[in-house]
Amino acid sequence: MAAPSSSVTTPSQGVHRVKFAILGGGISGLTVGRLLRAAGHTIDIFEKDEIIGGLCKTANFDGFLLDEAGGHILYSKLPEALSFMVDSIGPDQLCQRERKTKIYYRDGLWVKYPFENGVGQLPPQDRFDCLMGYLEAYWQRQQPNATPPGNFHDWVLYRMGQGFADHFMFPYNEKIWKIDLKQLSSSWVEGRVPEAPVEDIVQAAVGLTTEGYTHQSHFQYPISGGFQALTDAIGAPLADVIQAGTAVESVQRDGEGWKVNDARYDFVVNTMPLPEFLKVLQGVPAAVNQAGDALVYRSLASVLIGLNHDEIPDYSWIYLPFPEQGGANRITYLSNYSPGNAPEGCASIQAELTFAGPNPVDDAYVDELAATYERIGLLKRSDVIRKGFKTVKYAYIVYDLDFYQKLDQSLGWVDRQGIYSTGRFARFDYFNSDQCVDSALKLVKQILADVERG
Ligand SMILES: Cc1cc2nc3c(=O)[nH]c(=O)nc-3n(C[C@H](O)[C@H](O)[C@H](O)COP(=O)(O)OP(=O)(O)OC[C@H]3O[C@@H](n4cnc5c(N)ncnc54)[C@H](O)[C@@H]3O)c2cc1C
Repeated sequence: MAAPSSSVTTPSQGVHRVKFAILGGGISGLTVGRLLRAAGHTIDIFEKDEIIGGLCKTANFDGFLLDEAGGHILYSKLPEALSFMVDSIGPDQLCQRERKTKIYYRDGLWVKYPFENGVGQLPPQDRFDCLMGYLEAYWQRQQPNATPPGNFHDWVLYRMGQGFADHFMFPYNEKIWKIDLKQLSSSWVEGRVPEAPVEDIVQAAVGLTTEGYTHQSHFQYPISGGFQALTDAIGAPLADVIQAGTAVESVQRDGEGWKVNDARYDFVVNTMPLPEFLKVLQGVPAAVNQAGDALVYRSLASVLIGLNHDEIPDYSWIYLPFPEQGGANRITYLSNYSPGNAPEGCASIQAELTFAGPNPVDDAYVDELAATYERIGLLKRSDVIRKGFKTVKYAYIVYDLDFYQKLDQSLGWVDRQGIYSTGRFARFDYFNSDQCVDSALKLVKQILADVERG
């Protein structure tokens, strides 16, 4: 395995070496651990699960692999983060894949994704609704006082119009977010949903080919071991300092430093979900705890359906926007990511569904889902030889209307205590794993500068 590149340097001779407690052994905690250790500091990583990796973990059901927090792909616009990840596992351990995605529309129709580019494939009435609505919305946006609405429901109408809303955006987003879309802020879509030029929409609607955004057109995935192979590789040199199966139960001030469970540290780097961290941190004001508890998130169930043949569509994943297509919003053809994800001659699909509160998925639910997929033509139940599921509690951040206020009250307070926080749910930020690595790289640079300053 090649040594990951990083621009973080070892402290100069005589610089005080400090002891860090890193809370959480997901990709954020492991990356911070690698870099701090490379810089000569002492670290312990506390991970409550027996297996490191957090949301990047992969389960194995008799040779059928399942990425526990939904099918994960490796791609990035962040060169330093990407090379850290690729170098950690080794480039020869990765499959190169072209992203092929579709929307499974009503009546068995396959439509291009992004939906705006597939509009020409819709039935005539739906195509008309989308085009007309888009032009009306476009015209409204040219008016002098037009401003983007703050809630997601109205933002969709403002940006895309009624047809796109009814035929895709509303049903799909209701399925994922499980919240009245008027209660969702439009802030989370900024920069995520590029505005399609009106010419592209008209072209697509009359049946001319358009592609939409292409930055995820290719991706990488570990040849064996599922996405978790990546976090396994990042964590491998840290085996002696990872305390797997050790939950952080208490974090409290101890003079200039901190006590984590019973051990003393100079600094704490938190990567655990913020609401969980606030529960174990001593001396948190009630208002801060309340704000942290009020942060809204969605949990995820990932369902594996293993097939006794490998004749599956050539897609990476497909979107299922409508309720009659079952509870999952996305199906990943995980065995297309790497042949190592299913036994030889077999294939797998992975369905992902979000939930709020208690887990609705059990064996009966999985059977029902398979029956739905048979009904809509995605598989034959007689071909299914393995089923299974995994759930994760913290999966999606819900940017409800007072999200930033709650975050400022809770995370803002933690930041002011001199505790470092990084990671998707430690900062409640919509990070993919590459962004977690990027943030960890930046944080460690900041920490090293802080340490150097004494
Ligand atoms: C549906 C979905 C799809 C995604 N797809 C992609 C993708 O395709 N590509 C991509 O790059 N990223 C993807 N991501 C994002 C990626 O999974 C995350 O950004 C990343 O894994 C977060 O890592 P983390 O270390 O910040 O947090 P986590 O992985 O959540 O790590 C936090 C760790 O803290 C531990 N912990 C919690 N409580 C305690 C405690 N009391 N004591 C000790 N440890 C504790 C947890 O067990 C966990 O291991 C996806 C995420 C989801 C939900």
